[in-house]
Amino acid sequence: MKVLKFGGSSVANSENIQKVLAIVKQESKNEKVAVVVSAFGKTTDQLISAGNKALKNIAEAKETLETIKELHDQIITDLITTHKKEVRSEVADLFKKLVSIYEGLYLLQELSDKTLAKISSFGERLSSLIIANAAKELFDATHEESRKLITTNNDYLNAQVNFKITDVNITSFFDKNKHQVVFLGGFISSNSNHETTTLGRGGSDYSASIYAAALGAKELQIWTDVSGMFTANPRVVKQASPISEISYEEAMELSHFGAKVLYPPTIQPSLRKEIPIRIKNTFDPENLGTLISNNPKNGNEVKGISHIENISLITIEGGGMVGIPGISKRFFEVLSNAKISVVLITQASSEHSICVGIAAEDTSAAVALVNEAFEFEMSQGKIKAVIAENDLAIIALVGDQMKKHQGLSGKMFATLGKNNVNIRAIAQGASERNISAVVEKVDVKKALNALHEVFFEENIKQLN
Ligand code: ADP
Ligand code: ASP
Ligand code: MG
Repeated sequence: MKVLKFGGSSVANSENIQKVLAIVKQESKNEKVAVVVSAFGKTTDQLISAGNKALKNIAEAKETLETIKELHDQIITDLITTHKKEVRSEVADLFKKLVSIYEGLYLLQELSDKTLAKISSFGERLSSLIIANAAKELFDATHEESRKLITTNNDYLNAQVNFKITDVNITSFFDKNKHQVVFLGGFISSNSNHETTTLGRGGSDYSASIYAAALGAKELQIWTDVSGMFTANPRVVKQASPISEISYEEAMELSHFGAKVLYPPTIQPSLRKEIPIRIKNTFDPENLGTLISNNPKNGNEVKGISHIENISLITIEGGGMVGIPGISKRFFEVLSNAKISVVLITQASSEHSICVGIAAEDTSAAVALVNEAFEFEMSQGKIKAVIAENDLAIIALVGDQMKKHQGLSGKMFATLGKNNVNIRAIAQGASERNISAVVEKVDVKKALNALHEVFFEENIKQLN
């Protein structure tokens, strides 16, 4: 058994979906396959944006909804013949439900996380239903509702999976299933009250890994619009190239630091069962892509460079901090209680300060909360008011073998220095699998290209 996942651009229109179906047909010739699909193209973005519009202007929200519906209708027209009428009416019902949710939003003037999860779920509910029906005309296939199988807590937009229940749900469904291919929506799940939850933006990769682990699949294939995990974001670094083999930990680190091609939580379930993950290109299926496993063939000591834009640094400092116990515990507690995730902790040069990198959108909340938490110490002058520095980015070099090689950080910082990139903070993970630098956002492109040239292109240049 294999699990295949196709992302938004792989299913953005009828032509692409035909490519997807050809791949699934081929992959399911000799074994059963579970196929996880994302919403068509940008549908999730559009559903969310319609939600925000509905708060002010219901007509505008309905216009966006109409655009989404046109795409879905077009795909049904192009790809379904036998059950066209039934599918059309099922899809029309789903859109009617959506309209009434948006109308409710407009009346209540409130868009809660619970409602946001509900409206975002329609993308995958629709896409999986339509693709499964298109597939049925070509091979033996069925559709199953992911919300029935993946059970989570109540964190509606970033739900935590209950693997104990989920694994049983998945195995009992697949034990009974007689069809060669099962299509499932990614990203969507439900809590114990059967309310819809979602696994976080980009979460379809994670859904696929959850299915693969529960089923003990032989391989998880993530099909996307590039030929694997690249040495750097190919949209920013033109010279970037696919990495042929990489370890789970390296892949996790690269994705945590911004390689969007894989949603960070995806690795964990597959790693637990040692299921190899292959990243492949829907538009170039012959390309081998990237293999993620426990024993990657030796490659470069630096496997990739990733980056996250829109970072802020939050610092608390003060001479009085040294003597007060539990300051960092309280600092991190405040952030974690507010669900603000800390992307990076920098090594402070003195004990007088703690500095963390967080997503820019969390900055004002973080500043307010930390100032509130340390109000007393601040009033006594032991700690200064929180400092926030904005418009920053993190750049990370990643590689399991980096710790065995001396001078890599020297080379990294010398390269940045030579290119006049100002380094605001440095962090090195305890695993030594990663060295990260915080730089100004405006310098990202220059910094990435310079580092890519030094770590990946120089050998090639010398050979030439
Ligand atoms: P999907 O819709 O298939 O899930 P995503 O848009 O989530 O696809 O991820 C694929 C995109 O990730 C690529 O088009 C590329 O722009 C971006 N990306 C960022 N960093 C990397 C990287 N290191 N390797 C490959 N792709 C990357
Ligand atoms: N459709 C969801 C999103 O856009 C999940 C995914 O595509 O992975 O975030
Ligand atoms: Mg994705």
